[in-house]
Amino acid sequence: MPELPEVETIRARLAPRLTGRRFDRVVIADARLTRPDPPEAIAASLEGERVRDVGRRGKYLVVEFESGRHLLIHLRMTGNLEHPARGGFEADPYRRAVVSLDDGSDVAYRDVRRFGTWTLLEPGELADYIAARKLGGEPLERTFTTARLSRALAGRRAPVKAALLDQRAAAGIGNIYADEALWRARLHPLRPAGSLSPEELARLRKAIRAALQMGIARQGATLRDYRDPDGEPGRMQDEFRVYGRAGEPCPRCGTPIEKTRAGGRGTWYCPSCQPLDPS
Ligand SMILES: [Zn+2]
Repeated sequence: MPELPEVETIRARLAPRLTGRRFDRVVIADARLTRPDPPEAIAASLEGERVRDVGRRGKYLVVEFESGRHLLIHLRMTGNLEHPARGGFEADPYRRAVVSLDDGSDVAYRDVRRFGTWTLLEPGELADYIAARKLGGEPLERTFTTARLSRALAGRRAPVKAALLDQRAAAGIGNIYADEALWRARLHPLRPAGSLSPEELARLRKAIRAALQMGIARQGATLRDYRDPDGEPGRMQDEFRVYGRAGEPCPRCGTPIEKTRAGGRGTWYCPSCQPLDPS
């Protein structure tokens, strides 16, 4: 499932190719993508829009148009954007939408499981839309301080892993980078989020940033579906310290990695360097 590093990789690839381009023709072939709005209406509404910028907020890709409107694309589980450098597309039963740009190239949206969403916002609606989703701060920005993380986790009894997944403490972290960050911070995933000491919170902030930056540097993680817009897989999966590595030695201490569940998700950690009772 794409998390911040995967969405950021897609954004960085698409931004120079889309900025300044006009959406000439838009075909949306799946009503689930735009519901409750009819896909034909959204497609027609997008035609003629010119891209001012391609940004990202958490796991949302944010296409900003010169009109002031925004198209928010959330890839959810298996969504993907394709913009091959040359040549057209092969037949693909999972292609849900195609945007033809005024330079003659096409951007296609592919989604096997169909949980992804395209939301078109009118000028001025973006801030309220983001606020309504209780999206936390951007963990790679300077505003993501230990104090801010501390406030977001204060008093919460949920496991720290679950608190990282729910997007309120920090936007864009999913199952992979939560586990990798907690390992880097030497924190057990089932520790109550509100129980972390100031020193542990400082470690966690640093670890979140390091895990996400490693993911971006490796162009994301490809477990199954994720590809960048050129169709290339990421390489972050070769760098996992704990994620998916049950039984393999911890890279720090050699203890076999264990698997548990937190926030309803498979969760990997080192029982030696991430003790549940740190005292
Ligand atoms: Zn260890």
